[in-house]
Amino acid sequence: MTTSEQLYREAVKYMPAGVNSPVRAFRSVGGQPVFMARGEGAHMEDVDGNRYLDFCGSWGPLILGHRHPKVQEAVEGVVRNGWTFGTPVSLEVDLAKMVVEKLAPLEMVRFVNSGTEAAMSAIRLARGYTGRDHVLKFSGCYHGHVDYLLVEAGSGLATFGTASSAGVPEDFARLTATMPLDDLAGLERLFKENGEQLACAAIEGVPANNGLLIQDRAYVQRLRELCTEYGVMLLFDEVLSGFRMPEVLACEHYGITPDMIALGKVIGGGMPVGAYGGKREVMEHIAPLGNVYQAGTLSGNPAAMAAGLATLQTYYETDVPKQIETLGTHLDKALASLLADVPDLGYVRLGSLFWFYFYAREAPRSAEAIDGRCGEAYARIHAALLSKGIYMAPSAYEVGFLNTAMTTGDLDRFVRALEEVKTEGLFP
Ligand SMILES: *Cc1c(COP(=O)(O)O)cnc(C)c1O
Repeated sequence: MTTSEQLYREAVKYMPAGVNSPVRAFRSVGGQPVFMARGEGAHMEDVDGNRYLDFCGSWGPLILGHRHPKVQEAVEGVVRNGWTFGTPVSLEVDLAKMVVEKLAPLEMVRFVNSGTEAAMSAIRLARGYTGRDHVLKFSGCYHGHVDYLLVEAGSGLATFGTASSAGVPEDFARLTATMPLDDLAGLERLFKENGEQLACAAIEGVPANNGLLIQDRAYVQRLRELCTEYGVMLLFDEVLSGFRMPEVLACEHYGITPDMIALGKVIGGGMPVGAYGGKREVMEHIAPLGNVYQAGTLSGNPAAMAAGLATLQTYYETDVPKQIETLGTHLDKALASLLADVPDLGYVRLGSLFWFYFYAREAPRSAEAIDGRCGEAYARIHAALLSKGIYMAPSAYEVGFLNTAMTTGDLDRFVRALEEVKTEGLFP
């Protein structure tokens, strides 16, 4: 038995399915989770000494790869003096100044500890600001595990949602309208019928938690117009897309300005950080200036702020979007030739995010357009890649992440591994 297997046996005794976040349990690809011991650059090593090229990147934060020296130094330097005070610290000012100066939609920002909190708090603010209760979300978009966001579209003609998790009261779910993505006519209709009830429309900058569902520019721009027309706050949840687009933010990619954005993942450089922000006039409704309450014992703690600041400083100093484009273009070319004669396996990339889709002639733009048979096909490829030292997220619906520690040589190794998988007859 491997050390990973031994650890997993222990883990399941004390934690549900042995994990602290469900997808880590490998349920959708089969097999058992691998316990990691250390990371370095583009690679991580498990407790049994196996080395992997890492396309999961801790689910998004590690845009500079594992243990980037600047980030490690910054965190180590800070913790020598203490890692939380529960008072303001200068690093909060530095990181806030940096994101407000760099990100156009932000005039003010508040830091929290996770992407879930960022989206939840932004929506509370939208409700407080507009005095309305209802929220619009899009199926396939993930905004964290907030009660009223764990909903799916209601059956039949009902616009408002039903809970997708036990423990979420139907009364909460009813406050959330759910729409498929990429449905312009449906969107027009929903705003016409319910627009005046909506406090907020929340959309992932680029939906990337249920496949990589790149939206048409015209669709997103129309959503922006409808929100303005009906007095609805447009929340771009850029927890995943933020700092992963060629234009840095997805809203810039689509050429629109949302009312609020939520950030997470990259902004903490691998520490628990989320952030939300928007116009000063809106943000001043947050306590203690305004009556929308939101707080956090560890929010803005120096260790987390140091990791985020060092990550973003490096991001801008070394022009990460440009580095990523070089890597991405290299990967696009290699995969285009590998997949040219595989009609049932497609690849799509935007910035540092990529995704394989199955049984479709073009990249899906809505959750409904994803073929349900993808899970089985992906599971075979996932297991084969894992055995060849390539770590992909353990679900067909999760994207792959590029980072700047990767080299074109690493990407060639990835493509060679995929070539072997193809030769082994494991492609659909
Ligand atoms: C990951 C993610 C979240 C939740 O962030 P956590 O830090 O896991 O709470 C919210 N929204 C989007 C778009 C995400 O990708």
